[in-house]
Amino acid sequence: MMIEGRKKAGIFQKRKRPRTCVGCGAEEGKKNLLRIVRSPEGVISVDPTGREPGRGAYLCISLECLNLARKKNALSKALKVPVSASFYDEVAMYIKAKLDGQTNEKEKYINSKFLDLVGLSARAGMLSVGQDKVLQELKKGKKMLVLLTMDCSNNVERAIAGYKEREHCTVIKLDFLDRKTVHSKLNLGKTQILGLPLDSGIAKKIEALVTEGVGDYE
Ligand SMILES: [Zn+2]
Repeated sequence: MMIEGRKKAGIFQKRKRPRTCVGCGAEEGKKNLLRIVRSPEGVISVDPTGREPGRGAYLCISLECLNLARKKNALSKALKVPVSASFYDEVAMYIKAKLDGQTNEKEKYINSKFLDLVGLSARAGMLSVGQDKVLQELKKGKKMLVLLTMDCSNNVERAIAGYKEREHCTVIKLDFLDRKTVHSKLNLGKTQILGLPLDSGIAKKIEALVTEGVGDYE
């Protein structure tokens, strides 16, 4: 009981203590900020762990906020020591690398999650593969989520344009999927168009994933 109580108090405390970005001034959870630390010996460095001893200053992981901080000399003020231009450059490089890494990770996640969901819908018999099949369903009056590969032809886009106008389908062109991938990863042939019932849970999941990057990605 005691341990549980203490644990809860700990979580509560963490949530209650946002940090302020020295660039834009916004308050954020510690997790979303980059910590810069001045060690007890007076050395300034990026602190990826967020736990190095010393005086800390926080920045959003954004080059914009770093530039704001640079203009205001904010790191120097917060850490109470002179901070050189080259240190700001070093932080800029760190932030760039971190942002690139996040983009790649997120893309990888969306890719694999997308393939999982489409594979699942195929196995459940919900997936229409190819222009003929998709048009067949649309002609029957079914509302569909239509997925196009990035290399799909104008003809395919034109064929569904009318249905899209009459709101029979939501059309999403996927900038990460090509015919070859559909063939090799999904085993569905080299098709450029896939469709599934628009109001199905799986279509909603796919739509959220590819339009907003929503999923259980962390
Ligand atoms: Zn900021």
